[in-house]
Amino acid sequence: MSNTVKNQPASVIMNTYGRFPVTLVKGKASNVWDENGQKFLDYTSGIATCNLGHVPEHVHRKVKEQLDTLWHCSNLYEIPLQQQLATVLTENSCFDQVFFCNSGAEANEAAIKLAKKYASDQGYVEKTNIVTFTNSFHGRTGSTMAATGQKKIHQGFTPLTPGFRYLPLNDFDALKEINDGKTTAVLLELIQGEGGVNPADQVWIKELAALCEKEDILLMIDEIQTGVGRTGTLFAYDQFDIEPDVITSAKALASGFPVGAMLAKEEVAQSFQPGSHGSTFGGNPLVMSAALATIQTIMNENILHEVRNKAEWLRGKLGELQRDFSSIEEVRGLGLLIGIQMTEEVKTWISAFREKGILVLSAGSNVLRILPPLTTTKEELEYFIQTFRQLLTEKEGFCHDKWIPIRESMKRERSKI
Ligand SMILES: *Cc1c(COP(=O)(O)O)cnc(C)c1O
Repeated sequence: MSNTVKNQPASVIMNTYGRFPVTLVKGKASNVWDENGQKFLDYTSGIATCNLGHVPEHVHRKVKEQLDTLWHCSNLYEIPLQQQLATVLTENSCFDQVFFCNSGAEANEAAIKLAKKYASDQGYVEKTNIVTFTNSFHGRTGSTMAATGQKKIHQGFTPLTPGFRYLPLNDFDALKEINDGKTTAVLLELIQGEGGVNPADQVWIKELAALCEKEDILLMIDEIQTGVGRTGTLFAYDQFDIEPDVITSAKALASGFPVGAMLAKEEVAQSFQPGSHGSTFGGNPLVMSAALATIQTIMNENILHEVRNKAEWLRGKLGELQRDFSSIEEVRGLGLLIGIQMTEEVKTWISAFREKGILVLSAGSNVLRILPPLTTTKEELEYFIQTFRQLLTEKEGFCHDKWIPIRESMKRERSKI
């Protein structure tokens, strides 16, 4: 054994995240608490993951039951909870079969593999490539990073997995470039989440779908952020009048337990046979109990209808703020996946919200991303809007181009209370 003392780094955790200076220790419904007992309204939902809020009751009960029964068994044995969940998912979508894994990136990896295998099975020997779009986000593994259409994410990780080509979203001319004889699939988000909350154009996506159908190119939609009720339907594609061949899901599917899923139409799904793909943990009984309870809650408790109502109210109020304050350039999104394009970097806005007890996110440097739990109350939504109006008034009312004096004015105001 070596006696040399290691140079201890500042942290034992690898430095892969720019973390906010907050330690969350408890969550219930729309709220989280930090280690000092301070309460926050969580309008990040763990990045579109805790869609039913924190520790939702029905899911909690089902997981507790499963915790006493069976946590894990290999996919070499039948897992009835997978059957039940896949039944609910396929009954409520245009798909026939489901593959379960553990994360969003893994779901996209599965889709990428399936697209290649499908082409190979059809005898399309030249069709090995996948088209994705600029500003997309599909994950951090080798292939999903290559699928992601953002240079900053590729930086330093060459050579990238080959076979991905990036085209601009919503560009009608770019549609002509999709079929170059080598494309087996397109993969895209209907609302780019990480890339700035950019919705696909309704007319453009229908043209893309028609083109894919005609050329036997698979249309694969990454619903990892948009799915599980986030946009007001179980999956967002339902609101774009298209029928994809494949979608991927993860994030909110099990209310915060790690899960991923790929859903596909039968003609495509049958390209996977024993030995094609697999996962040790994917779809294990503990996670499936959480996922089944999550989807049942969403489908049985009128949550989707509520999301559409809340979203309409919120968009109306954000529209009023945009009209009243020049700091807001544009409000985008669908359902409760909302992007607010600001005139400057949003870092300061995120901190200002946090100081008022609300957690929000960014999507790129100038876009505030708001992801309330689908179960958020009218009072919470009102508090969010009221707080946003107050912050905008403080900023635009006190100083137009410097943020610091505004923060001081906020502190003064708080000390008066
Ligand atoms: C979060 C996300 C992913 C990656 O999911 P992980 O579970 O972090 O691997 C992929 N695509 C989209 C659209 C996402 O939002």
